[in-house]
Amino acid sequence: MSDVLEVQGLSVSYGSHRVLDEVSLRAAPGEIVGVIGETGSGKTTLARAIVGLAPTVSGQIQVDDVEVTGLSGRARRAHRRSGAVHYVFQDPLRSLDPDLTVGEIVREPLAIAARLPRQEQQDRVLGALHRVGLPADLVDRVPAEISGGQRQRVSIARAVVGDPRLLICDEPVSALDASNRNHVLRLIDELRRDLSMAILLISHDLSSLAGIADRVVVLYRGRVVEDGPIAQVFNEPRHPYTALLIASAPSVRREHRLLPAQLRTLTPVRVSGGCVFADRCRFADADCDVQPALEPVAPGRSVSCHHHSTWRESLTAEHLSGRAS
Ligand code: SF4
Repeated sequence: MSDVLEVQGLSVSYGSHRVLDEVSLRAAPGEIVGVIGETGSGKTTLARAIVGLAPTVSGQIQVDDVEVTGLSGRARRAHRRSGAVHYVFQDPLRSLDPDLTVGEIVREPLAIAARLPRQEQQDRVLGALHRVGLPADLVDRVPAEISGGQRQRVSIARAVVGDPRLLICDEPVSALDASNRNHVLRLIDELRRDLSMAILLISHDLSSLAGIADRVVVLYRGRVVEDGPIAQVFNEPRHPYTALLIASAPSVRREHRLLPAQLRTLTPVRVSGGCVFADRCRFADADCDVQPALEPVAPGRSVSCHHHSTWRESLTAEHLSGRAS
């Protein structure tokens, strides 16, 4: 089955600042792809670029075989309004119009994308609310009259009411308490299964992704440094930055129980033009003065590190000699 989303060599700049650099990723129907990285890694810019809201410098974005980056202003607006891609924001209170009722909020994408009879619109609104586990009598309430968890489910109902092919969820659970967080994650998992949509799930919370994502893409300063099946990446990260992220998240840390202190550099060096992670990398050496390419290292896995297969050995040697802190 062909991919719903294919991003190839995407670069985005704001002025002279390069925010994304040669980013490539893909998502198939029914697949959840997690995107992780620290604040400033380019996660949200990537999401905005895919929906046509960020200034692309080069590269291609295809959604269902439509080349989004090649569309002119009017065609791009038409694509955005078609409902093929929908975006769920982090903060539902700020992203939902406070003056509209729940029914009007969920109906709005239908009114923009399709000329459906009023009754059919109403049926689809109620169907979407039912799908996300909300009662029909919420339609006449405004966002301030419902809970935070309900608001995020309204955002998701609005996102799926037009049957998008691709759903982009930007930190969808970060503003929620633990119980609502689990509800929303379960709901996202059901959506990909029942509706076969591809889902890009952006999160700084690795444990949210661990249970539901199929693959994960790791961004660092606008570059993909690792990409692969999530279980493999979380069990045995091949990039030192991925290893540091995982070591810093005890809920997902598994392999050899590496600790952040074992992965942080003891002698930071400033490298210009070399590997983007070099100034934080404990394993940097002269080879790293050249930026490593993102290269396949196993079926379905790619890593951008000159020493992806050897850095662990040096860590073990350090550990045995008692140098690890
Ligand atoms: S290429 Fe060098 S500096 Fe970059 S992550 Fe690998 S070992 Fe570290």
